[in-house]
Amino acid sequence: MRGLNKMAMCYGNLDLRIEERPLDEPRPGEVQLAVKAALTCGTDVKIYKRGYPFLKPPFPVGHEYAGEVIAVGEGMDPGLIGRGVVTSNGAGCQLCFNCMRDRDNLCEGIEADFDEYVQMGGGFAEYINVHAPIVKQNLKVIPEGVPYEQAAMVEPVSVALHGVNQADIKIGDTIAIIGAGPMGLLQTQLAKLRGARVISIEKSRERLAQAGRLGADVLINPDGVGDLVKAVRSTANEGRGPDQVIESVGLPQTWELAIEMARKGGTVVEYGGCASGTKISVDTKRLHYDELTIKGSYSASAYETEVAFNLLARGVIRASDYISGTYPLEKTKQALDAHLNQQGIKFLIKP
Ligand SMILES: [Zn+2]
Ligand SMILES: [Zn+2]
Repeated sequence: MRGLNKMAMCYGNLDLRIEERPLDEPRPGEVQLAVKAALTCGTDVKIYKRGYPFLKPPFPVGHEYAGEVIAVGEGMDPGLIGRGVVTSNGAGCQLCFNCMRDRDNLCEGIEADFDEYVQMGGGFAEYINVHAPIVKQNLKVIPEGVPYEQAAMVEPVSVALHGVNQADIKIGDTIAIIGAGPMGLLQTQLAKLRGARVISIEKSRERLAQAGRLGADVLINPDGVGDLVKAVRSTANEGRGPDQVIESVGLPQTWELAIEMARKGGTVVEYGGCASGTKISVDTKRLHYDELTIKGSYSASAYETEVAFNLLARGVIRASDYISGTYPLEKTKQALDAHLNQQGIKFLIKP
């Protein structure tokens, strides 16, 4: 279908405008969706606030969405038209150095052709053309009875899952998760599925309570304790500290705290993305003699995307636990402001 597409465009510095732009026909291998549900994400908020290294303003926003196929490009099955689908917002080339080593989240093809392999925006719109590599790897047909907004959570669930997989949890382990935003909450649920005891650390009372409802065993508000590291350690392994720590805030200070909290021989996953150019310092004695494992976590693999979709399709993770309000497309700015000001967890945009 050709025509006009109403979409949210970001001009940087909290400047978001709803504009009508021409809608292209889907190219070979692409599908065109009428967006039915899109969700706000911490990444959108970051982009909305301070831009994105690979994007020149104005650029479209919204990368968590699900919709109905209304047209398909050459080579695609026309039987998809009318079906509800969801995709992730990126895909690996499956051919490069890193993809060949089962690290498709680190695909070199993405660096070479970011715009083709990653769609960081375009979900806060009436329509979107999903690029061919993403369709090929990550297009999922939504089963009957699963709401669009539930399916739209595939990307955040897959990325949270990658972080939890990086932690290498064993049944009975105790994991501390710093931050109970959307990602920390998802990781709480996923770590419980993996058989862990979860310590949730969060300043917001509402978010901490939600972590408890989603299964966290120990709730710690840093404002209520003197020495946070000591307080966390005292609740795990007879005072030795948690087996794993995931940092899901994205601040250098909390990255360092995560390293301090882990027990000897423990694993730290630095999950939350910090502002570019920032650095942390690590006590070399602790890293060496305590044999810590410190890992990064970025994006998710195609396999993790599939697992995430299955968890959502089965209702193991429910969108209703994460969506704090609904806005029409015209009010995308208000939804992003509400997310930015932590007036809830995630917000649903219904075009
Ligand atoms: Zn996201
Ligand atoms: Zn690749």
